[in-house]
Amino acid sequence: MSVTYPQPEATASATGEYRAAVVSAFDRPLAVEHVVPAPLQPGQIRVKVEASGLCHTDIHAAHGDWPVKPAPPFVPGHEGVGIVCELGSGVIEVAHGDRVAMPWLGYACGICDYCVSGRETLCHEQENMGYSIDGAFGEYATAYARYVVRVPDGIDPFDAAPLCCAGVTTYKAVKVAGTRSSDLVAVFGVGGLGHLAIQYAAIAGGRVVAVDLFDEKLELARELGAEFTINAAKEDPVEAIQRLGGVDQAIALAVSPKAFEQAYRSLRRGGTLVFVALPADNEVKLPIFETVLNGITVVGSIVGTRADLREVFELHAAGKTHVTREIRPLDTVNEAMADVEAGRVAARIVFEP
Ligand code: NAD
Ligand code: ZN
Ligand code: ZN
Repeated sequence: MSVTYPQPEATASATGEYRAAVVSAFDRPLAVEHVVPAPLQPGQIRVKVEASGLCHTDIHAAHGDWPVKPAPPFVPGHEGVGIVCELGSGVIEVAHGDRVAMPWLGYACGICDYCVSGRETLCHEQENMGYSIDGAFGEYATAYARYVVRVPDGIDPFDAAPLCCAGVTTYKAVKVAGTRSSDLVAVFGVGGLGHLAIQYAAIAGGRVVAVDLFDEKLELARELGAEFTINAAKEDPVEAIQRLGGVDQAIALAVSPKAFEQAYRSLRRGGTLVFVALPADNEVKLPIFETVLNGITVVGSIVGTRADLREVFELHAAGKTHVTREIRPLDTVNEAMADVEAGRVAARIVFEP
């Protein structure tokens, strides 16, 4: 049976001011203030935001953690879900009243080698929601119609929000890892991304070892299908995983270079390490000799395509995934970010604007 989640009044248009959480400087807290939306450009749409997930990437953005920085003032948020309420000229991809997800890949050129070969997330011309263009931490958001993804009926918007980054990123990471039935997979970091990575690895047929620093997160990992759990604050995850014979794949989702190095040393021969997390401290040390002799693959994985996100929504609509999330008002954005950084969140916080 399919449930339809009622759509809020989508007739309002954001031609006036609306409230959004704004980063004005990397060393200052966000301020929830009134912003004035720019007129829609051709191909753009306005969306009345229903739900907006808080990804750790938003925290990196707000702090200016990465080599390529956003330019304040800007509005974070790339797990936005809402109802299309205004169409720019030439929009044919969506209609008024559609529920859409607005992921990290906010725009791509559509014609470069990457775009035409199904690797749009590598497009050099890309714009990113909540980073190079304003995101979904507000009552409204502006998006490019071609790069939003329709949310199927039957998916709660508060589930759809985390799926559109945490979900699609880890779904793709498991594809990149090449997990097949009977593989042993280590998931380092059971946060917003990790709690979904465990489920996608299991769907691919893998047996999962989950690693985190908090017992509550490891308990959730077991509920979501992890067969083994390791608290890296209490024991050496490398030794524990090597006692199991080593893993075929390790997925690095913890915001810590040390966890990447542990994930590397947890592999068995022929194993694959997938880099996903993006800690501010941008370097890891990996040995050349062991990589060569053990036939190790190290690969980066960046979000997922619109096609990947459709698959993620299909799996969720079919009841195959569970999103663990906590709804909070957007006004608590600074406290919410502090709670994520301190590991005080079960998996994902989703803001209600
Ligand atoms: P999160 O804070 O929700 O989860 C991180 C988890 O790692 C937490 O549970 C934390 O307790 C755990 N952790 C921290 N240090 C650890 C350690 N040393 N060993 C084991 N576990 C440890 O963050 P998130 O939203 O899941 O995002 C994770 C990272 O992924 C961030 O850096 C984010 O920017 C990045 N990210 C990358 C992509 C991509 O496309 N590659 C997409 C989204 C997010
Ligand atoms: Zn994200
Ligand atoms: Zn392109």
